[in-house]
Amino acid sequence: MCGIVAYIGTRPARPLLIEGLKRLEYRGYDSAGVAVLDPSTKPAKIQLAKAVGRVGNLEERLEGTTWQGTVGIAHTRWASHGGVTETNAHPHTDDHAGIALIHNGIIENYSVLRKYLEQKGHTFVSETDTEVLTMLIGELYDPANGVDLEAAVQGALREVTGAYAIAVICKQEPDVIVAARKGSPLIVGIGNGEYIVASDPQAIIAHTAQAMTLDDYNVVKITRDGFRTSTIDNVEVTPKVLELESELDEIDLGGYEHYMQKEIFEQPAALRNTLRGRLDMKDGRVVLGGVSAFAKDLVRARRFIMIAQGTALHAAMVAEYLFEELARMPTECEYASEFRYRNPIVDEGTVVVAVSQSGETADTLAALNEAQDRGALSLGVVNVVGSTIARETDAGVYLRVGPEIGVASTKAFTGQLAVLTMLSLFLARRKLMSPEAAAKLQDELADIPNKIEHALGLAPEIKQITERYIQHENWLFLGRGVNYPVALEGALKLKEISYIHAEGMPVAEMTHGPIALINDGMPVVFIANQGAQYDKVLNNIAEVRARGGHVIAVATEGDRHIRTMAEDVIYVPPCSEALSPMLTVVPLQLMAYYAAVARGHDVDKPRNLAKSVTIE
Ligand code: GLU
Repeated sequence: MCGIVAYIGTRPARPLLIEGLKRLEYRGYDSAGVAVLDPSTKPAKIQLAKAVGRVGNLEERLEGTTWQGTVGIAHTRWASHGGVTETNAHPHTDDHAGIALIHNGIIENYSVLRKYLEQKGHTFVSETDTEVLTMLIGELYDPANGVDLEAAVQGALREVTGAYAIAVICKQEPDVIVAARKGSPLIVGIGNGEYIVASDPQAIIAHTAQAMTLDDYNVVKITRDGFRTSTIDNVEVTPKVLELESELDEIDLGGYEHYMQKEIFEQPAALRNTLRGRLDMKDGRVVLGGVSAFAKDLVRARRFIMIAQGTALHAAMVAEYLFEELARMPTECEYASEFRYRNPIVDEGTVVVAVSQSGETADTLAALNEAQDRGALSLGVVNVVGSTIARETDAGVYLRVGPEIGVASTKAFTGQLAVLTMLSLFLARRKLMSPEAAAKLQDELADIPNKIEHALGLAPEIKQITERYIQHENWLFLGRGVNYPVALEGALKLKEISYIHAEGMPVAEMTHGPIALINDGMPVVFIANQGAQYDKVLNNIAEVRARGGHVIAVATEGDRHIRTMAEDVIYVPPCSEALSPMLTVVPLQLMAYYAAVARGHDVDKPRNLAKSVTIE
């Protein structure tokens, strides 16, 4: 969640750290702070500033000041323990050793540790779990007896439970940064005589493409001349070094007003990338290099379990229909957060698919590890190359939709749908589907980006329709079959950025209670494209109309009849029902976007949300 940047090198640290924080702004946060060591005194002095709100506020705070120093740490906080205040913002300092620390994650046993440290005479100023860890490191720090910063961090981390990515500096060791991780992302960019530690490659790629990844419970001590990586028990380890993809130009707004808008309109190009080289029309076989070594295990599997959260879960729910319908593969779909804690039955015949844009979603990662321990073969469907889920799964397929900056996920959702559809065809063709049937669906899949382009052409109309309803505080989204998860996704998008209360559900569920909500003028969005249950959807539309609801229908081009049933109709091009979610979701993404803009909200930085949820 939120962000960590730390720098050690020869350039002035402060501007570099602030620039790094700006690159992480898209992840969502509520306050920011920076600390740089001034080496002109002995011991060095910690220069520190924090501000509630945007990184811009922090910059204002710093105006007119100059700081010395080439070693520092900076943070954007997404508050978990303690309110959004300047005191609770990071970096935190200890009360005697001169230690400053930034942290992403949650220290679960912070309250016992805090009591213990209070008994030892330490005074806390914040309500955070992070200050407790800082104080514990300070308590252990004893250079005269060989406990330097690295050893103190190792010692403290042996005492804590929970999740962390941390970077620590100390005024008595002005040429050192110590960083560590467990459960929260952290990588170290390796430059020429300089290092940049960050929770997200975006803060590194402007400076260097070479980076090392840390495993859980790894600690790295960095100086300008090199680094030493060890476990918290001080066993030396060799880190993995990788090349980061240079995606800087892709994270430009490129003429759009918001990243979300850009990413919605980018979907045709993004999906062409997802599909490129993976569809083989000749014998109807999908080519997925990342899973081909496991083709036999996948075909022989007894069942699939999809684990995800949020938007990724909705994509997985669509996949549940496709895997069963097309590949006749028993498939379940679960909130990773529930799966991990309910002692799930997983055995050797089970394949677990972890779906996550960032590849860092804490619950999905934990659920994945749980399933792996129980003998499951694991696949990852993620966007961020080299992310933890990508590294920890047996095999996987990347989305290849490019960096997604908008907090409300859009192109990653359609990318997930495209990948999961290909996975279902990969299995289906090998299990039971004829080459002709498979080739036909692949043909259609290849044409989906063009159809999305066509659907996007209706944006001005969708904007007008949406603006007519934005004063309503309650909306319903209804769909059937593969479009039921799309209804959930439509409601989630609207909630996330326009703060309108919205519910998504299967169409038939409405009559079991929620129909009581429908009153005069309530907007009810039906996904009413042509499919097996089209007639049933029409009946439900009539029921809503009879109770005064305003029906907005997403329908198939050429369907004139629906105009007599619904107040507003948004058409999408015709396609096989199995592939339709990639089209029907597009108008819903646009509706959410235009609703948020019309209500004056910051679309790319919605309140309370973070881009990748790396805490439980
Ligand atoms: N738990 C810490 C806090 O509330 C860190 C939250 C974060 O990941 O930013 O300050």
